[in-house]
Amino acid sequence: MKHTCPHCGEKTFSPIRKALAGGMTSNGQACPSCGGRCVNGKLSLIVNSITLLPAMVLVFITYFRFDTMMDVVKGGLIPLLAAIAFNYIFNAFFGKLIPAIRKFK
Ligand SMILES: [Zn+2]
Repeated sequence: MKHTCPHCGEKTFSPIRKALAGGMTSNGQACPSCGGRCVNGKLSLIVNSITLLPAMVLVFITYFRFDTMMDVVKGGLIPLLAAIAFNYIFNAFFGKLIPAIRKFK
């Protein structure tokens, strides 16, 4: 299952390459066929913030509520890592690629 490049219309993006392309504010990944840089579009941005925000709030809460580092890891870090892993998988298989807005320096 490959994703279509918005620059040349070829199915050149593997799920892993798409996941690595990052969000709309990143430099993205270059298309192997045309060299155009692509990032994940709006849907990815929305889903990522919906999942990352509660995880970050959870980290914040556990940081103040628990005494030991282990509690913080269990209560906050694991949900945060789970959210990041979920976003990676979501970006790999869902959502559309769009041309990168930010110019690559
Ligand atoms: Zn292309």
